[in-house]
Amino acid sequence: MTALTELTTVEYTHRWSAETGLIHSYPRADLSNTQILYLVPRCSTDVMYPVRHARVELSCAAASTSDRFTWCAGCAVAARRARRTQLEQQVPQQRKAIA
Ligand SMILES: [Zn+2]
Repeated sequence: MTALTELTTVEYTHRWSAETGLIHSYPRADLSNTQILYLVPRCSTDVMYPVRHARVELSCAAASTSDRFTWCAGCAVAARRARRTQLEQQVPQQRKAIA
């Protein structure tokens, strides 16, 4: 069951973390709020002690798919899981619309 506060995939965007050397997904709302100095990547939102990355160490320039950068596997899995959940929720609604 999806919590009401769970963010959808479009509410995330990618940034390169100098700390991990990986491209992680971060909530767009957190990135736009300059009061948040340490951001929690998507791969760490469901753990008891989430990692936090300093805003100053994140770069949007590296969000391209260059060979130089590696995507975070945890963020990719979390995005796939969220997309699957969204699709599973859409299917019953589409069946209702057809019937
Ligand atoms: Zn990640």
